[in-house]
Amino acid sequence: INTIGVLTSGGDAPGMNAAIRAVVRTAISKGMNVKGIQRGYAGLLNEEIVDMNSRSVSEIIQRGGTILYTARCEEFRTEEGQARGAEMCRKHGIDGLVVIGGDGSYRGAGKLAEHGINTVGLPGTIDLDIACTDYTIGFDTAVNTAMEAIDKIRDTSTSHERCSIIEVMGRNAGYIALWCGIANGAEDILLPERYDCNEQTIINHIIEHRKNGKKHHIIINAEGIGHSTSMAKRIEAATGIETRASILGYMQRGGMPSCKDRVYASIMGAKAVELLAEGKSNRVVGWRGGEFVDYDLYEALAMQKDICEEEYAI
Ligand code: ATP
Repeated sequence: INTIGVLTSGGDAPGMNAAIRAVVRTAISKGMNVKGIQRGYAGLLNEEIVDMNSRSVSEIIQRGGTILYTARCEEFRTEEGQARGAEMCRKHGIDGLVVIGGDGSYRGAGKLAEHGINTVGLPGTIDLDIACTDYTIGFDTAVNTAMEAIDKIRDTSTSHERCSIIEVMGRNAGYIALWCGIANGAEDILLPERYDCNEQTIINHIIEHRKNGKKHHIIINAEGIGHSTSMAKRIEAATGIETRASILGYMQRGGMPSCKDRVYASIMGAKAVELLAEGKSNRVVGWRGGEFVDYDLYEALAMQKDICEEEYAI
């Protein structure tokens, strides 16, 4: 491999910069050139490709977001788009590519590999919704950010003796909700993977808690269930207890990455380059069973994980 390209794709996640930095510096230490592709696959097709050296990644390990920007790209889902993407890599001498993103970004990487570009995927998403790994870059920071915000909401919720529904991110996965629910000592945790839409159970729970002297009732609701505002209105009407919804939103995706995200993302970035240097392609890096591992990309995409099985959830 002479030249490694690196891009971030899909939703941004804190720690992506640490991964980019590790890719750039590991590749340079192995005598390779590095090109940064801005705005994911969209930037690849638009030739938004910049040379990177050691200094390009100075002082980014502590920064949230991604210095390469990220985007979604419909054109890259087409056969023509993928062929053109591979062509762009060849034009810029990129013979190995590190893609940092979620499942969708992995599928794009697989297509490039089919067109002869060696690719390795790194799990970059706050949602932890990639089956082949128990850790994704950004999850640790996001749950800590959400946890701190929920602590603050809890203070005011208790003072006003309210019920609070707090909606956290996670797309269709409930990992952020589950972890915050435990860390914040929530009374109820609603997970898309197992929610039965029975609000009466929650209402009964609130009434019972109130009878037992609880001053607040915290419900962590996952984005995949949503509708927190209307749920709050219905719960207030049924219980007579003031109920407010707070949707935490994008603040969960930003901020300085946690120590864990910086360290794990750095190790994964270095591993991606090592795999490419060994001539491997179509691989994805993960954290499983207490070690960093890599899988065939399609094998990884076919895996499933169940949040209700404890070892995968926590
Ligand atoms: P997140 O979990 O944050 O949403 P993601 O990587 O799953 O991240 P997607 O929007 O699904 O996010 O995918 C990112 C980009 O990857 C898409 O905009 C598209 O360009 C490319 N992509 C997704 N699916 C495919 C596919 N099946 N074939 C080719 N490219 C794809």
